[in-house]
Amino acid sequence: MRRTVYTEDHEAFRDTLRSFIEAEVVPHYDEWYEAGIVPKDFYRKLGELGVFGIEVPEEYGGAGIESFKYQAVISEELARAGVSFGGSSVHIALCLPYLTGLATDEQKKRWLPGMAAGEMMFAIAMTEPGTGSDLAGMKTTAKLSDDGTHYVLNGAKTFITGGVNADRVIVCARTAPRRTTTAASASPCSWSTPLWTATPWAASSARSD
Ligand SMILES: Cc1cc2nc3c(=O)[nH]c(=O)nc-3n(C[C@H](O)[C@H](O)[C@H](O)COP(=O)(O)OP(=O)(O)OC[C@H]3O[C@@H](n4cnc5c(N)ncnc54)[C@H](O)[C@@H]3O)c2cc1C
Repeated sequence: MRRTVYTEDHEAFRDTLRSFIEAEVVPHYDEWYEAGIVPKDFYRKLGELGVFGIEVPEEYGGAGIESFKYQAVISEELARAGVSFGGSSVHIALCLPYLTGLATDEQKKRWLPGMAAGEMMFAIAMTEPGTGSDLAGMKTTAKLSDDGTHYVLNGAKTFITGGVNADRVIVCARTAPRRTTTAASASPCSWSTPLWTATPWAASSARSD
């Protein structure tokens, strides 16, 4: 059956991506899988190819396309080759909408160009050892420091896709005591190395106290 959901532009992107996967991923994939990590430079290559910038607004270095179809093409081509881009799936699909929807202009200028270029990789930390689907049960807290300059996070997070290679992690934390309604916030922060442990991307985990 001929599909009509994609345009010529999508198919041209598919051809480019397929060649890229054959040249840059397939030959290395077993090695990456064994090591449990993708070399960070690989994400820059994805950035150069334009994979991360498709939906990033033009003023922040992307193509500004408001369609998920290119992400669908990426998923199809990865499945076809039986490989993955090593935990980078949430970088754009989950993290970008938080930043375009909630970040200030100054924050967007600071984060989005690096995000599009694959130079600043994002992950999102919602799940906790005791909290999955029901995020209202989240226990991690974010408390404003005494001098008001930063938040202090206290809690544990797990199952963080791409956490092993992340430069910034959007951490969901409670900023007010739990009442009948949920008071939770999400804020990008850098992932301090001594505080986390990471396992292969197939089952990545991270901890932040
Ligand atoms: C491959 C992978 C990648 C992930 N990446 C991330 C990530 O990047 N960041 C992150 O924060 N988390 C991530 N997670 C965690 C994921 O978000 C959680 O696994 C998910 O929220 C479910 O939580 P849980 O595993 O604790 O299951 P639970 O919430 O304990 O659910 C277990 C089962 O109970 C059912 N259930 C739960 N509540 C109810 C209810 N009220 N009524 C009826 N049934 C219910 C569920 O449908 C499910 O079948 C990832 C998980 C996987 C598998």
